[in-house]
Amino acid sequence: MNYLLIWDIDGTLIRTKGVGKRAMNTAFYKLFGIEDGFGPINMAGMLDAIIVRKAFEIHNIPVALPDGRENTDIERFYELYIEALSAEISMIQGSIACPGVLELLETLHRKDNFYNVLGTGNIEAGARLKLSVDNMNRYFPTGSFGNRQIERYQLIEEAIANSEEYFKMTFQRDKIFVIGDTPKDVECGNKLGIKSIGVATGNYNKKQLSEHGADYVFENFSDITSFLEIF
Ligand SMILES: [Mg+2]
Repeated sequence: MNYLLIWDIDGTLIRTKGVGKRAMNTAFYKLFGIEDGFGPINMAGMLDAIIVRKAFEIHNIPVALPDGRENTDIERFYELYIEALSAEISMIQGSIACPGVLELLETLHRKDNFYNVLGTGNIEAGARLKLSVDNMNRYFPTGSFGNRQIERYQLIEEAIANSEEYFKMTFQRDKIFVIGDTPKDVECGNKLGIKSIGVATGNYNKKQLSEHGADYVFENFSDITSFLEIF
C-alpha cells in the first residue's frame, strides 16, 4: 500500500525561532521604513500570500493599484524577504529540526511505499531555504506552497494533485495524511476526506489538535515506532 505524507514546515519539521518573522520585518522596513510591520499578526498555519497582504492592509498600503493590477511592492517585498531570510539562515548554527524528525524522515525515505511531500504556507524559495539548514530538501521532491491567496485545504488539495502528477500514481484518500502543528493543518483532514496527524511541537498542544479533528496526535516525532504503527 502506498502512502502520501504531506508535511507542514514551521513548528512541524523545524523550529526557526522566529527567523521567518524577523526576515519579513526586515523586508518590510527596507521597503516602507516601518518597524515590526508583522508584529500583530499570528502567522501560525497561515499562507505567506495572505500574511503579506494582511501586513499591507494593517499599514494602509494598497495591495492593488488603481488600475486593478497587483501592487508591484508585493513582488519587491518577496525579493527582500528572501534576501533577509537567506542572511538569517546563514547565521544559524546547528540543527533546527524538531525532535525525531530527521530520523523519522530517513526511516520513511528508506521504505519504498512512503511518499513525502510539502504542504506549506511558505513561498517555495522560503521553504527551501529553511529546510536547507538540516539538508531536508532531498526528502521532498514536490508539494504545494503559499504563493497564492487560497485556503489551506486548497493548498493541501493542490499538494495531492502535484504529487500524483509527479509520482505518476493515484493515492487512495484514506492513505493520504496531512501532518502539521496547528488546527488549520489538521482541519484539512476532515475537509478533504484524508487523514491528519497533529504534532505538539508548535504553539498548540495535543488536546487542542485533537479537538480540531486530528486523527492522530504526537507530543513530537521522537517515537518512530508509535508513528509507524499508524500505517
Ligand atoms: Mg506550522
